Amino acid sequence: MKNILLVSPSRNYPMGNEMYPSGALLLLGMMLREQGHNVKVVHMVADKVDRLGFYGILRDFRPDIVGFTVSTYQTRMTGILSMGVKRYNSDIITVAGGSHPSALGLDFLLSFPGIDVSVYGEGEVALTDIARGVPFRNVKGVHYRHRRGGTLGTNAPPPLLTTEALDALPLPDKPLIDFKRYSGLFPVGRRPCMFVMSSRGCPYQCSFCSKSVYGNTLRLRSPEGIMEEVELLYRDWGVREIHFGDDTFNANREWASELLDLIIKRGFHKKLVFRVALRVNDKILDMELLRHLKAAGVWFIYYGVENGDQDML
Ligand code: SF4
Repeated sequence: MKNILLVSPSRNYPMGNEMYPSGALLLLGMMLREQGHNVKVVHMVADKVDRLGFYGILRDFRPDIVGFTVSTYQTRMTGILSMGVKRYNSDIITVAGGSHPSALGLDFLLSFPGIDVSVYGEGEVALTDIARGVPFRNVKGVHYRHRRGGTLGTNAPPPLLTTEALDALPLPDKPLIDFKRYSGLFPVGRRPCMFVMSSRGCPYQCSFCSKSVYGNTLRLRSPEGIMEEVELLYRDWGVREIHFGDDTFNANREWASELLDLIIKRGFHKKLVFRVALRVNDKILDMELLRHLKAAGVWFIYYGVENGDQDML
């Protein structure tokens, strides 16, 4: 068993509150716990942990592995803390994943000397392998620093998680975080508010969009599996608004309609409100789908107008 500290670093600019917990850290934390590891999750903004507080956690928790989820707006603190971890104990393995390391590739390790391994794309297989002690050179989907000599290496990606694999992932475990500390996304329809990833990937090719983590291959969770998560969030977390955080909720119309039907059939259109992101495209968005969304309790839609220039799409 290893002690594994998972961190969502504070932002490069001042921020008073955090809207949602990191879905990646919740999921990875659950998977690592199921493997028998001792996991602690820290969101620096929501948990009001500053640099000194982080070093206190490091001393008390004594992690074997520290994992950072890194979006571009979290790079500054990631650099500071990862160097701090290495100065404290160079045997601690430092891992970074998320959109920024995925987009930068090997360059990420050049810019972050305190990080041993950067995970690109979906991180479930890589992080659980690292926790099991698999040598870096055999972990799929990572760039890494050789522990002796510091030269860099790159491994091939793992296969994308299939629909069946996504359905088999653990559901979010509340004890990993204090849910009261998250404000939800403005404007909040009802509180408390939480997001659900019901699919991964987007099949469209907008040239300005990186999609560095989930890629181009659309994979849809089963509507039944999604409803299991919706019911858990309603019943155990007390959630009253759900944000389907998919890149494009209407990428597959039939699947979206099936999910909306299930929401209505189970009565959740009266218990919850929902928000979704839709692509504006006359083949997948029309009045019939909009009426269906409204009937299922969707109150807020992000329209991805994407671009006014057809060549960019
Ligand atoms: S539709 Fe949205 S998520 Fe998909 S490629 Fe375009 S901008 Fe990215």
